Amino acid sequence: MWFSSTGRHLRHGLQAAADLMAPSWCVGCGAEGTDLCPECTDDLRLLTRRPVAAEAGADALPVIDVTDDDLRVLPVFAAGWYRTLVADVVVAFKEHERVGLRRVLAPALRRAMTTAADHLVPAGVPVVLLRPPPSLAAHVRRGRDPLDELLQGALPVEGFTRGDHLITRRPVTEVATAVVGGASQKTRGSAARRQAHEQLQLAAGAQAQLATTEVLLVDDVLTTGSTLRRLYELASAAGAHVCGAAVVAATPRGDTPGQR
Ligand SMILES: [Zn+2]
Repeated sequence: MWFSSTGRHLRHGLQAAADLMAPSWCVGCGAEGTDLCPECTDDLRLLTRRPVAAEAGADALPVIDVTDDDLRVLPVFAAGWYRTLVADVVVAFKEHERVGLRRVLAPALRRAMTTAADHLVPAGVPVVLLRPPPSLAAHVRRGRDPLDELLQGALPVEGFTRGDHLITRRPVTEVATAVVGGASQKTRGSAARRQAHEQLQLAAGAQAQLATTEVLLVDDVLTTGSTLRRLYELASAAGAHVCGAAVVAATPRGDTPGQR
């Protein structure tokens, strides 16, 4: 019952009641009565104002072009780096039910998407946005779909349409069977991660809709890039041209310029 639709509403109702009894505090500085105070909102906007090229640190991104002296990986634009206030706000929004933070994160995602399109897509060419579908486990745990909330807040943008229906996950029973039997804790972990990506697949009829379309991948946080790689492989195999990806925040690596 707790995981049913009724349970979800019940949990959200309880959360709303808890918020009334204990007013929220600023994720950035702890000021009472707001989820993000005006000063921290300004700081977040500054940190996500100019989307950055984030593909350099993500080792699992697909290679899209090989020349004599270079490998070109899938370009990814991130609204900001996943650290300090940006990371705190993303975690609070995704994991701690601070749903109101969409008001600052959705515009950040929109900036990343439009910057990516400006750099990667010829003017006037329509773009289909592909996102990883939420895993059932995450959906049950959270009772919501944070990336969907961000996309709803970021759109409409002229020329962008959502292609959520084009990618699905295989039924979870198949996945559970495949994951059981990992030899050690460590290999089971990586096998489970690999499986999590392998279970993404094209929906019925997606091939025809993706052929010859321009695709921009979208996600909330870029870490290794393995999820984006799986989406890239699926869309490319269907004949789409995947120009790149846009994310709210990218995990900085040791060689990332400007990392503290
Ligand atoms: Zn604050």
